[in-house]
Amino acid sequence: MDRQQDAVLRTIEDRDVRFVRLWFTDVVGTLKSVALAPAEVESAFTEGLGFDGSSIDGYTRISESDMLLQPDPATFTILPWRGEQGQTSRMFCDLLTPDGAPAPADPRHALRRVLEKASDMGFSCYTHPEIEFYLLKSSELGPDGQPQPVDTAGYFDHVPGGEAQDFRRDAVTMLEEMGISVEFSHHENGPGQNEIDLRAADALTTADNIMTFRTVVKEVAAQQGSYATFMPKPFALHPGSGMHTHFSLFEGDANAFYDPADEFRLSKTGRSFIAGLLRHSEEISAVTHQFVNSYKRLWGGGEAPSYVSWGHNNRSALVRVPLYKPDKAGSARIEYRGIDASANPYLTYALLLAAGLKGIEEGYELPEPASDDVSALSPHERRVLGHTPLPGTLHDALRLAEDSEFVASVLGEHVFDAFLRHKRQEWDDYRVEVTPYELRRYLSAL
Ligand code: GLU
Ligand code: MG
Ligand code: MG
Repeated sequence: MDRQQDAVLRTIEDRDVRFVRLWFTDVVGTLKSVALAPAEVESAFTEGLGFDGSSIDGYTRISESDMLLQPDPATFTILPWRGEQGQTSRMFCDLLTPDGAPAPADPRHALRRVLEKASDMGFSCYTHPEIEFYLLKSSELGPDGQPQPVDTAGYFDHVPGGEAQDFRRDAVTMLEEMGISVEFSHHENGPGQNEIDLRAADALTTADNIMTFRTVVKEVAAQQGSYATFMPKPFALHPGSGMHTHFSLFEGDANAFYDPADEFRLSKTGRSFIAGLLRHSEEISAVTHQFVNSYKRLWGGGEAPSYVSWGHNNRSALVRVPLYKPDKAGSARIEYRGIDASANPYLTYALLLAAGLKGIEEGYELPEPASDDVSALSPHERRVLGHTPLPGTLHDALRLAEDSEFVASVLGEHVFDAFLRHKRQEWDDYRVEVTPYELRRYLSAL
């Protein structure tokens, strides 16, 4: 056992922790959990905890179902919503095969692999997400057949005595108690829509934090009698929920995206990183936008990016380079807006970082920035300027992903196949549905 593992065992004893939950994630990003008695933690560290992987989406075939969970001691934390008495804690796990090797099915491992590659290139990778979600009165639909938001407020609104405000205060407090630092929180554009932005952390920690965040937000909503959803586009007429993420690479203490000599203080490394994000954005869309509903957000307005483009402070662009002050060289960063609120953060960050690193490695050239609202241009203007559309449906996105050597190599064959199989099934289920829209539009007209 190493020092970190020892420290966890001591904390469990000192704080009289009764349950230790082991958390891990399936290919679509669903959080899985198993509770251990404290006495079992030591052997979970040294030998791993065996479980039947064939029951988890995308893990193994029945014939090779044995897998091991190995808790990562760096992620140990108490779960504040479980109360002070007989405390409950959790650790994220890495998945191993029975012989102790990283399991090819583990989404967390796919991200670790890309981070190792970054480290071989001399970079450490930092990320911070802006996570949007809707706060609803319940998970049931209202009499109008629509979800029921808790308020009718809009962007940055302050609603005295408002439910959303209490909600954000409690959610932020709980995240901070769990060691997840929050930078901003505010009401977003849609009724009941909120946003909480986390502070930058290394990319693996951020991905873990996003999984924790979703649980905390749902727990706090439940405590207050409301319901939180990360569904990408719950309302046709209101904006969807994105998870824009800011990326920065550091070489030692130096921000690799910063160059004081450039007009926009963006280094050559930063430019190639953006070029990588743009070049691979279409083929990775099935992962950054993994649900049928994700494409309703992308094409439903509300400041979601629909075309491949980049710009300085241009909110219609897929990649935005925020303006930063010259004395804040360390804060140079690149915002990718093409991620929705329920993407699997491990696979999403693995692909985006790999795309950016490939851009650096191969010296991709960055096209001209978009200076206009890209969605307001004519199709001809967009073609001339090279702003190609992101896929229009999950089906289109899957076709691109299925043909992509890049996606297969970053995810690894196992995750790649499992993910695509799962998503094909989802599309096949959807395409035979007859929707309320079709009945409204065609039943009395045809
Ligand atoms: N809700 C928008 C989206 O889905 C983003 C709005 C914003 O710029 O924060 O991407
Ligand atoms: Mg926002
Ligand atoms: Mg943003």
